[in-house]
Amino acid sequence: MTYFPLNQEQQHLKELAAGLAEKELAPRAAETDSERKFPRASLEGLKSAGLWGLRVDKEMGGLGADLLSTCLVVEELAKKCPSTAMCYKMHVEAAELISRQHTDYQAESFVKKIASGDILCTVAGGETSGKGDDWVPTMRVTAVSKQGDGYLLDNIRKSYVTSAGEASHYFMLCRVGEEAKPHQLTALFIEADKIDWETVGEWNGLGMRGNNSMPIRFNGVVPEGNRLGEEGAALKYLGAVMMPVVALTYGAAYLGVASGAYEQAMEEAKKVYPSGASRLDNPINQRRMAELSAKIEAARALLHVAAAAGDAGKVAAPLPYLQAKVSCSEAAVLVTQELMTMFGGTAFAARLPFERYFRDARAGMIMGLANDEAYQTIYGMLFPKK
Ligand SMILES: Cc1cc2nc3c(=O)[nH]c(=O)nc-3n(C[C@H](O)[C@H](O)[C@H](O)COP(=O)(O)OP(=O)(O)OC[C@H]3O[C@@H](n4cnc5c(N)ncnc54)[C@H](O)[C@@H]3O)c2cc1C
Repeated sequence: MTYFPLNQEQQHLKELAAGLAEKELAPRAAETDSERKFPRASLEGLKSAGLWGLRVDKEMGGLGADLLSTCLVVEELAKKCPSTAMCYKMHVEAAELISRQHTDYQAESFVKKIASGDILCTVAGGETSGKGDDWVPTMRVTAVSKQGDGYLLDNIRKSYVTSAGEASHYFMLCRVGEEAKPHQLTALFIEADKIDWETVGEWNGLGMRGNNSMPIRFNGVVPEGNRLGEEGAALKYLGAVMMPVVALTYGAAYLGVASGAYEQAMEEAKKVYPSGASRLDNPINQRRMAELSAKIEAARALLHVAAAAGDAGKVAAPLPYLQAKVSCSEAAVLVTQELMTMFGGTAFAARLPFERYFRDARAGMIMGLANDEAYQTIYGMLFPKK
């Protein structure tokens, strides 16, 4: 259900995404997972419908989608193939800052090409766990040095880069010069064909197995013209410009994991077995399905309200975005865990797709702003230090 009133354009984008998900993503989803296959063909299907330019302004050739439509699209995709939806979500996230603020050169060279589907981008943000078991409690970002009119990337290693080796462009966070403080981040838009890079190891995640979310090392010079905004000011843009899309699309992707699994469970649960029984004869399952539907709708309602409030310019701090992100990802974990119990050995033996959704759902707790960290941030907004 979508209780939230949608305008015509939002309804159109939701239906467009649902149709593409059914036609392009669903048939490849099981193989994407089992073969750990990057979902290139599924992403190409989205590109042909113009979805790579989802949030690029219409004047630049994009679809100019608002935040609510963006959530609707990502949820529909995730219902059918969470891996594809996650690669797509990282593309939308990586395209956000440059789509909102750019130089003339960047508009011509990048923004219009995102809209036309000539650029598939992703985020090379974090460097956590970059050095063996040397865990650091806050994100550490290596410094690059200035060289002529560019920035020298000397063996910069980014961890967990979704679409690693497949993307044509990388949104990368760095510090410029060793003297730059940890919060003085700079954002670069890297062209993969103009720099040396190599992926490290292989992606063999518990879930989101089609993502190619492996480390990548960069070497070479990135021109100054590829810098997004001012040097050292990226944190400001991350908060003010990117956060709505970052948090809401995480929420939408994991909501799609929950609702996609639930919709399949509705069909499966209604089946009458040769014995004449159906899983829904069991009052525990009746209660379970009713309860899970309420959890999904609660998460969805918060996500849509947060997105609509953002579209209306009514969100001053990212509180509702983060509340929506944690709610949706927790709904995904709860729903998929319950479905694993409800469908018993058949689910456990992977004869039904619920274990795939169950594994995919786990990533939602740790991705982006991990939920524990998101809760700390929410707490900080509710109880600001005096
Ligand atoms: C499938 C997948 C795809 C990904 N794709 C991308 C991508 O495309 N681009 C990208 O840049 N990154 C990507 N990531 C990385 C992701 O953003 C990180 O996994 C995430 O930031 C957590 O960092 P970590 O894995 O080092 O976990 P850790 O930092 O080891 O965190 C583990 C746990 O420690 C606790 N914790 C850590 N820090 C805090 C804190 N500050 N406050 C409270 N608790 C804390 C939490 O309980 C957290 O769950 C991806 C990850 C996955 C799993």
